[in-house]
Amino acid sequence: MADTEADGLTALLALQDEDVRAAQLRHQMRHLPEAAELAELEGRIARLDVELAGASAQREELAGRRDGLEHEAEEVGRRIEVIEQRAASGGSFRDQEAMASEIDSLRRRRRQLEDDELEAMEAIEPVESDLARLESSRAELVREADGCRKRLSEAAGVLQHELDVVQQRRGGLADAVPSALRAEYERLAPRLGGVAVARLVHNMCDGCRLQLPATEIDRIRHAPPGTIFHCDQCGRILVPSAPVAPREED
Ligand SMILES: [Zn+2]
Repeated sequence: MADTEADGLTALLALQDEDVRAAQLRHQMRHLPEAAELAELEGRIARLDVELAGASAQREELAGRRDGLEHEAEEVGRRIEVIEQRAASGGSFRDQEAMASEIDSLRRRRRQLEDDELEAMEAIEPVESDLARLESSRAELVREADGCRKRLSEAAGVLQHELDVVQQRRGGLADAVPSALRAEYERLAPRLGGVAVARLVHNMCDGCRLQLPATEIDRIRHAPPGTIFHCDQCGRILVPSAPVAPREED
């Protein structure tokens, strides 16, 4: 095999190493643990937001009820004042009795409203403490997510940088591979899991780990320089990395 062909095959092997490395880097970039962590944190924030919305709606409802009761108690208070003023300005005994009875009844009504208002206010307290707890959990998660996002971007940046370096090296290697050989590699690689070139080590294809038949080894040994061989078993381009070892029976 002529030196240039051997160089071409060596360059092709190196190019394949870069492609394999690039594929690993892309895989790592798609599966960064920080991304999974961030997704988990974002999921927890989203679930907290649902809880927060529920608690917040509950607080609004209770506050509305409290305000309504307060407003109603004030109205009753104003009615009591009006009747008290009317009673103070005189009237028959029967009228006085009727007014006193109405005032009593209105006062009872006001007490009930005030009790209900107090109950609504008390009911708000646990909801407010829930809200405070949820809000502080959310703030904590948002801080964690921000930190995670930063780490994710750093990790992705490191991998991207490595990928850029790999791509640059690959570019240099591609020029050293004869175009026909490169075309063969590009055609085979997608079908062979990205590994289209294998070394022939001690009569074994290191792509599929199978021994080549003696006849094939002979053919490789006696072939004119520049011949491209494929492994019969897996179809990979074979690169004799060491002198073809003589078989024991030879
Ligand atoms: Zn093979």
